[in-house]
Amino acid sequence: YAAKRSGRSAHRFYRADADRASRRLAVSTRLRNAIKAGELSVEYQPVHDLTDSTIVGFEALARWNDDTLGSVSPDEFIALAERSPLIDEIFELVLHQSLATAAVWNSTHDSSSLVGISVNIAARQLRDTSLPGRIVGAADAVGLPPSCVTLELTETALMDEGPRTLRVLSALRDAGIRVWMDDYGVGYSNMARLGDLSAAGILDGVKIDRTFVADLPTARAETLLRMFFTMTESLGVTAVAEGIENDEQLQVLRRLGYRYGQGWHFAKSMPATAAVQLVLDD
Ligand code: C2E
Ligand code: MG
Ligand code: MG
Ligand code: MG
Repeated sequence: YAAKRSGRSAHRFYRADADRASRRLAVSTRLRNAIKAGELSVEYQPVHDLTDSTIVGFEALARWNDDTLGSVSPDEFIALAERSPLIDEIFELVLHQSLATAAVWNSTHDSSSLVGISVNIAARQLRDTSLPGRIVGAADAVGLPPSCVTLELTETALMDEGPRTLRVLSALRDAGIRVWMDDYGVGYSNMARLGDLSAAGILDGVKIDRTFVADLPTARAETLLRMFFTMTESLGVTAVAEGIENDEQLQVLRRLGYRYGQGWHFAKSMPATAAVQLVLDD
């Protein structure tokens, strides 16, 4: 249908397409080199107990500051990496760095009160049967139990019915590695499937997408947040509210019964040294 466009807008159309393609190429090429050169880093955002604001864990977030491209958002480079083996390299890097950091912030904690780490993982990686063993090995290497590790998956990943994915999820459960559904409520989700996964002990928690918290204080947002919370309660999984930016939102979430949350109201993501200091001061 592009041929039907007038000359001028067709030109603009191709031009924008070409710009996008060359940006993708530049980002992919530089990303590959950045990973090799060890230029990716990890920042940590605390997850809080909303009743007393103590830290219960951290989410590891990949960061990349490129010499020529500047700081590239993970939304951009993760989306590109997900189409290639680069996503596995990023996962390994984030997993190892964040476990090493978690070992430091847990050095003064006893085994009953460890502060865990959540790592984001792409859907496709759940089909890799070596995944559970690699995580157990990485945790072992720094002297932490695998139960310190939580994987955050998007809704689509958990809706994959494939037998291999189910085997991987069961192996993660058996190893004590937790699995949370990330950005819940904005994608395609099937409550029956959620029920099955939690009944099988495969799903441990649900992170409610930050757009609902951002919509507070509206009746609509509150209704949806109440509904999500009721659902997690009856499934027996943990509910985590994302994107808490102010005290008003925090108060509504507390009133609705939410126990855990994260957001700029508490802290933005921070480098390892700051995260360790925060735990030691907590
Ligand atoms: P996500 O897993 O849902 O992570 C939460 C995002 O929300 C982070 O963005 C975080 O910085 C941001 N955020 C936290 N609190 C607030 C708040 O109060 N307000 C607002 N507006 N935003 C807040 P970030 O770091 O840009 O990451 C974006 C996404 O990129 C992540 O969303 C995740 O899906 C993906 N990502 C990041 N690191 C990794 C990684 O190592 N592996 C994979 N597979 N994906 C990653
Ligand atoms: Mg996440
Ligand atoms: Mg999220
Ligand atoms: Mg997200």
